[in-house]
Amino acid sequence: METVLSLSNITKSYGPVRALKNVSFNVPEGCVFGILGPNGSGKTTLLSIILDVLKANNGSFLWFGQPGSPDQRKKIGSLLETPNFYHYLSAIDNLKITQSISGRGTVENIDDVLRKVKLYERRKSRFKTYSLGMKQRLAIAATLLGDPKVLVFDEPTNGLDPVGIAEIRELIIELRNSGHTIIMASHLLDEVEKVCTHVAILKTGELLTTGEVNEIMQDEDIVELSAADLNALADILKPFSTRLKVNTDSNTIHLPLPKGTSNLEEINRLCFSTGIILNHLVLKKKRLETRFFELTNN
Ligand code: ATP
Repeated sequence: METVLSLSNITKSYGPVRALKNVSFNVPEGCVFGILGPNGSGKTTLLSIILDVLKANNGSFLWFGQPGSPDQRKKIGSLLETPNFYHYLSAIDNLKITQSISGRGTVENIDDVLRKVKLYERRKSRFKTYSLGMKQRLAIAATLLGDPKVLVFDEPTNGLDPVGIAEIRELIIELRNSGHTIIMASHLLDEVEKVCTHVAILKTGELLTTGEVNEIMQDEDIVELSAADLNALADILKPFSTRLKVNTDSNTIHLPLPKGTSNLEEINRLCFSTGIILNHLVLKKKRLETRFFELTNN
């Protein structure tokens, strides 16, 4: 699979504020790539850098394996801030203006992009009669002019009501199915889980983790165990997980394992065979929220 975007050690400061610290990751072709993080974690700064709106202090990025060029930029449609549409003009007339200013696509594309965002029926209605969700879909339609391969959206569902949110999420999935790669910022874990195939999690400018959503966000099995000699128990269990946690306060050990893979009988047998008698052995399911909270709060 081709790499659409690769970031290498991107660093950005605003005066004393370090907004991004050595951020590196790759975006594979055909994915919906979520940049997930709480407010102020650097998402908008990151998107602004890859769109050449801001310059990084350090590091580099490549689009389609090459440094940015006007030709490359034509392959990227973006929505960073809500565009200014004319309230008294129809969707078609607004897009005609956008098309002529941006030089992306042709007037003939306009019906097509309006169909894609499901505004074709309302194409002649004035912008001011649109709901917030429709306005946002028109903004997305504008990014589709010229049929760019890659779409970059900053918090595309922000401020919308639940119906509007669901429509935008569905649209993003449809855009991916029709061959676009989408890079989107979000502060909502739930949104990333529903829409994205890949994720990079940022916290105060640092990349905490990146990879496929299924792998990163997957529920985990946590096996909680205890024995008289906690250290000896920990030594036996260490080979099973690098994230083994010894809680001396509660006198327990937490052994995280991939979802559905824990076998309590086997663990019990293993401990017994090495001379350790467990006095506590429980399987706990870790919820996704806990995992995200752990990632962003440690
Ligand atoms: P939000 O979801 O609130 O937009 P974000 O994750 O997009 O947050 P950024 O807007 O990229 O985060 O901000 C990252 C950090 O940089 C924050 O601490 C923010 O206050 C700071 N910052 C952003 N823009 C500027 C600026 N122009 N001048 C000074 N500091 C800034």
